[in-house]
Amino acid sequence: MKEKTLAEKLREELTYNPKNGGLQLTQDQLRRAYEFCDDYKEFLDVAKTEREAVAEAVRLAEIAGFVPFEKGRVYQAGEKVYRVNRGKAIILAVIGSKPVSEGVRFAISHIDSPRLDLKPNPLYESDEIAMFKTHYYGGIKKYQWTTIPLAMHGVICLADGSKLEVRIGEEEGDPQFCVTDLLPHLGRKQEKEPLATAIPAENLNILVGSLPINEEKGSDLVKLNTLRLLNEKYGLVEADFLSAEIEFVPAAKARDVGFDRSMIGAYGHDDRVCAYPALMAALTCNNPVHTAVTVLTDKEEIGSEGNTGLKSAYMEYFIHDLADMQGVKGRDVLSASQCLSADVNAAFDPTYADVYEKRNACFINKGVCITKYTGAGGKSGTSDASAEYMSRVRRLLDSKNVLWQIGELGKVDVGGGGTVAKFVAALDVDTVDLGVPVLSMHAPWEIVSKIDVYMAYRAFYEFFLD
Ligand code: MN
Ligand code: MN
Repeated sequence: MKEKTLAEKLREELTYNPKNGGLQLTQDQLRRAYEFCDDYKEFLDVAKTEREAVAEAVRLAEIAGFVPFEKGRVYQAGEKVYRVNRGKAIILAVIGSKPVSEGVRFAISHIDSPRLDLKPNPLYESDEIAMFKTHYYGGIKKYQWTTIPLAMHGVICLADGSKLEVRIGEEEGDPQFCVTDLLPHLGRKQEKEPLATAIPAENLNILVGSLPINEEKGSDLVKLNTLRLLNEKYGLVEADFLSAEIEFVPAAKARDVGFDRSMIGAYGHDDRVCAYPALMAALTCNNPVHTAVTVLTDKEEIGSEGNTGLKSAYMEYFIHDLADMQGVKGRDVLSASQCLSADVNAAFDPTYADVYEKRNACFINKGVCITKYTGAGGKSGTSDASAEYMSRVRRLLDSKNVLWQIGELGKVDVGGGGTVAKFVAALDVDTVDLGVPVLSMHAPWEIVSKIDVYMAYRAFYEFFLD
């Protein structure tokens, strides 16, 4: 072997230079990462909405021995509990051997993703075509949501108070839906519009029918036919849409991407690509020292609003209940706690290199990404993790051989974004963002690397057991 030059030696010893996981993982580790991702892909397909993700989390948690948390009951070290918030968020806890007054370990991710929600009064007919009016949810590039197959998911509460669960367009043979777009032949004016305005929000109408009821006279015959079909199949009347939460999501299934199958393409990696590893860490971490608390929350994509988002007190109340159980103060538990805010970051995309600052960007396959702060402009709207806490997380990941990298969300002043980290930090909890790099974030088909997904699981798992 040739002797290393001084520069080579110094570069190795002194510089920060995270490497592609493909160069660092053994064949066995790579195989385990791919197997983990096979289960992740199944989760992606059954849990496309926050409600479905909660239902699937409950199913998997109960298999792993979790039981619904009963306020007032005393749980012993090693016991596993969960609490569901309105079917749209879930907290899971594995009770630690140390009292909760010494703090808990949080992993907090979100399970809502950008999509097209139905308006309260959605159904209309125009020129003998029946359509649904939508109100987009979260940050979308509207042109991406036209002419792709969509599936209808959600719940409809009927006049008698009963609840109907809807999922159409996922099974083989189901009908699917879509938003139409202009043909290029007649699109000369549209083509000159900026991307942001070329498809106005009120054009995101979903095609749902075209056959009229068989009558010569009268108006809205296609709409009436659509209502008749919905009534026959589900017992619905038009007013029932007023008490519904219907989400149209991409109908595509999760698939391997690339000749090497190193990546996964799917709808809603943001943030199920952190939620699933965090959930799996909760399900597999037995007998932690500190109580391990996994939160899969709702409404992150619209600012963590409402009673199922993290601005609500629901997580804090759970901590108070844990504290009461052990006769300590909830605020003391929070002040001693540590959190990995588990959310994605934008992976460097060579096709759009100019929006990234390469020295501080994250890359697919280089492991889980630690994001010290998010926000926009001069760090506004973010929690900036302390040097001390960064050091603590860094030492943990290095000591457990978890592949990780640092990443900032693009060039300063190019854009910005946020996560739940600032709401957790506001509770006096040490917090930093840690998650998976994503290509084409918020698109109907997002891309992640299998190595990074597996490293996210390893990070949460080691954090819980540390
Ligand atoms: Mn996110
Ligand atoms: Mn997002």
